[in-house]
Amino acid sequence: MSAQVETPARIPVMIPWLGEEEAQAAADAVLSGWVAQGPRVAEFERVFAERVGAEHGIAVSSCTTALHLALVALDLGPGDEVVVPSLSFIATANAVRYVGAEPVFADVEPATGNLTTLTVDAVRTARTKAVIVVHQGGVPADVDALRAACADWDIALVEDAACAIGSTVGGKSVGHGALLAAWSFHPRKVITTGEGGMVTTDNAQWAQRLRRLREHGMNASAAQRHASSKPILESYLEVGYNYRMTDVQAAIGLVQLGKLDEMVVRRRALAARYDDLLRDVPGLSPVRDPAYGQGNFQSYWVLPAEDFPVSRDDLLAALAEAGISARRGIMASHLEPAYAGHPFAPLPVTERISRDSLILPLFHTMTYDQQDRVVAVVRDQARR
Ligand SMILES: *Cc1c(COP(=O)(O)O)cnc(C)c1O
Repeated sequence: MSAQVETPARIPVMIPWLGEEEAQAAADAVLSGWVAQGPRVAEFERVFAERVGAEHGIAVSSCTTALHLALVALDLGPGDEVVVPSLSFIATANAVRYVGAEPVFADVEPATGNLTTLTVDAVRTARTKAVIVVHQGGVPADVDALRAACADWDIALVEDAACAIGSTVGGKSVGHGALLAAWSFHPRKVITTGEGGMVTTDNAQWAQRLRRLREHGMNASAAQRHASSKPILESYLEVGYNYRMTDVQAAIGLVQLGKLDEMVVRRRALAARYDDLLRDVPGLSPVRDPAYGQGNFQSYWVLPAEDFPVSRDDLLAALAEAGISARRGIMASHLEPAYAGHPFAPLPVTERISRDSLILPLFHTMTYDQQDRVVAVVRDQARR
C-alpha cells in the first residue's frame, strides 16, 4: 500500500455560526404547533428594527423579495428608471425588472465598491425615480451624501443592506434613517435564518402596505385571524404575494441576532489579522473601512494590482489546490447573459473589481492556523 498524504480539511469561504441554541429555538417553534408566520416573526421584526434603529421591520422570505416589495411600495413601474450598481449580486438589478422598471447601471468607487453621488449623477435622467445603493460586502456606502443628493434630485433612495447587518455609518447602524432598507438572512451573510429577509422603514403607511403585500394583499393576517375570538372575514385589497417568513426561521433569527455583536467583533478581528499578515505583500489592496463608517467584513476582499504576478483566476486555482475555497469578487451584473443587450454606460471600476478581486475565507469559527494557511498560499503566489 502506498503511503497516503493526509489532506487537511478544506477551508470554506464562509460557515454560518449556528449551534445548540438555534437548534433548540427551532425545535421550540415546531413543538409550539405554530410554524408559519406568527408570534416569533413579530418578535424578530421588533427586535431587528430596534437593532438597526428603524421604526418598522417587515420580515419576508429573502432580501430579493424585500427589494421587490420596497419597489412596489414606491409605486415604480414601466417607464421608470432605477439606478443600481452593476457590481452587486444580480438580485439588486432583477428586483427592478420585477416591477417592470428599467435598471440603469452606475459605476462604483474603487475604495468601497459602492455607488457615490458622482457615479449616480453620471447616469441619472429625467426618468430616474429611485436609486438602490448597496452596502457591498458589508462596507457601508456614504448614505449621508447620497440621501442629501437624492433629496435634491427628488428621487427615492432604497438601501440594499443584504450584507450589512452590524455595519455602521457615523456610529449608527446601517438602516438608521433609511427610507427603505432590505436585508438578507441567507447563510452567506452575517446572520442567518436559512433563507429570509426583512424590509425596514420609518414610514408607518409603507409598513402597513408591505405587511399586506407579503401576505397576498390581505387586510388581516392569518395570525390576527387566529388570535381573534370572532370570525374575521378578510379581503384582498390589491394583488399581493406570498413572501412570508416562517416562525421556525424567526426563532433561529432571534438567537442569531443575540450573537451579532460577538460575530462582528470576531469578523473585524480576523480582518485586521489578514491586514497585518498581508501588509508586506506588494500589489495587494484589501478592503478597508471608509472614513465615515465601519464594516462588518461580511466579505474580506482583496484587489491585486494590475501587474500582480498571477491572475485572479490562477490565484483562486492555487487556493483551491491547497484546499481553500476563496471566491471571485462581486459579480458585474451587466456582463451576465440575463442582461445581454441591456444598454449601459462605461463601467471601468466595476469591470476591474469584478475581474480582478477575490474574496478570502472569513468565518466566525476560523482558526489562526486556517488563516495562516490562506495567507501562505497568497504570499507564495505573490512571489511568482
Ligand atoms: C445576497 C444578496 C442579495 C440577495 O439576498 P437573498 O436573501 O439571497 O435574496 C441581494 N443583494 C445583495 C447585495 C446580496 O449580497
